[in-house]
Amino acid sequence: MALELFNTLSGKIEPLYASDGHALRFYCCGPTVYDFGHIGNFRTFLHVDVLRRAARLNGLPLHHVMNITDVDDKIIRNAAAAGQAIGEYSARFERAFFQDMDALNIERPEEIARATENVPGMVSLIERLAAQEIAYKTEDGSWYFRINRFPGYGKLSKKDLEGMEDGARVDLDEYDKDAARDFALWKAARPEEIASQAAWDTVLGPGRPGWHIECSAMAMQYLGDSIDLHAGGEDLMFPHHENEIAQSEAATHKPFARHWFHVRFLLVEGKKMSKSEGNFFTLRDLLLKGYRASAIRFLLLSVPYRHQLNFTFDGLTESTNAVERLRTFHDRMRKQAWPENTPADHPLMELIRKGDAEFTAALNDDLNTAEARAAVFDVLRAVNTAADQGSLSRLAAEQTLALLDKFDSIFAVLEDRDAERTRDALAWAEAENRLDQVSPEVIERFGSGSLADVEIDALVAERTQAKQQRNFARADAIRKELLDKGILLEDSKQGVRWKRK
Ligand code: AMP
Ligand code: ZN
Repeated sequence: MALELFNTLSGKIEPLYASDGHALRFYCCGPTVYDFGHIGNFRTFLHVDVLRRAARLNGLPLHHVMNITDVDDKIIRNAAAAGQAIGEYSARFERAFFQDMDALNIERPEEIARATENVPGMVSLIERLAAQEIAYKTEDGSWYFRINRFPGYGKLSKKDLEGMEDGARVDLDEYDKDAARDFALWKAARPEEIASQAAWDTVLGPGRPGWHIECSAMAMQYLGDSIDLHAGGEDLMFPHHENEIAQSEAATHKPFARHWFHVRFLLVEGKKMSKSEGNFFTLRDLLLKGYRASAIRFLLLSVPYRHQLNFTFDGLTESTNAVERLRTFHDRMRKQAWPENTPADHPLMELIRKGDAEFTAALNDDLNTAEARAAVFDVLRAVNTAADQGSLSRLAAEQTLALLDKFDSIFAVLEDRDAERTRDALAWAEAENRLDQVSPEVIERFGSGSLADVEIDALVAERTQAKQQRNFARADAIRKELLDKGILLEDSKQGVRWKRK
């Protein structure tokens, strides 16, 4: 069975394929880099990562583009408050975003498209719409999309256009649009926007692109007029994705994206995790509380993408234990010398094969991560029992390891880089003067001076050299500095070894 996914547009589960017979042309809405992302945002990017990995498991090559929204109201406001140009301000949060992606083992897309680097394409798309009088300019110099010129409006979110008319009358005072639901394509520059370099002087007049046109223009520029797959969180379905369809299809008269993938929310006590609700955790928050990056990844993937997931600390603890069990099991399979085939081998081999088939089938069935994970845990239990009873053969252990490899090509939690991730977060907290946010356990385990391994190695080498030069004062000072930072030294015949307290 090939990989099948629910398509928001058709309302059906459909096979995923590359229409050019080569690579899946895939656009995913990326972050707005005005602040640190919360783990709700990363739930979406994690399921997109699973989609990438599952496509690869099915031999489907990808051309995946993700945008970075690096100009918007919040970025302009925050950059102005910080006295910075928007590029300077947003670069910091873009860096943080990719650090968090790495810490969660989320693969990078094939291409990253920054809004500020693609303004000419947005301008020409608006010009194409203006040529058909679908885009119009208002007195303040902004440009809008005339929704009643696109009859398909609402086909993705299944919204009833008539019902929307009044509900959307929120910003009529601010903009002088022809119809309330018309949306902005180009926002005329205000003086402070020119000051923070958030305005472009173009044929449309000085201003900046609206959020929706950014994605339409970049998706088509990088991937072509008609793409295979478009993704984002469920809140983007309306109006963002609906507007993308309207802009693109009105300009090209071709279907924009064939398949739409929407990840449902991460909730906290029944409410969407969001900045505005104030009920959010960033990845850094959790790492500095002592939770592991692998457990956070595993938790956010534990419930399939088409169901909302309620975040709890109990859930996070369960995920920590589950990852630990998997790693212990993986080590056991690898490190123990299993006997050659035994008679008890046969039914177990069958069970492992069945687990393997169930894992792949669950994944290919609309990325059912919960069932895929359960299939592997069934094998883990049966194989552990056989191993305890001395009836596990080498062949069965090898088959189990092959299944674990496959599992990890999707879930990516077996390699233990958790300490490294936490140490990076601690180094960040120290650089940003946020050590008050670090839990005592993390300080105790990693030392408040978050020395990286290479820094410790360098200090140890310097101490050895100082001793050789009989500079005992310096050698003692280094030992003390390391001890203060939670690093213990052991002098042995083989040299000096160090460990973290
Ligand atoms: P933003 O940076 O706000 O544009 O959001 C980045 C991505 O995170 C978008 O695809 C959003 O739909 C998604 N997102 C925002 N909040 C949540 C949440 N609580 N759960 C899952 N995805 C979310
Ligand atoms: Zn988008």
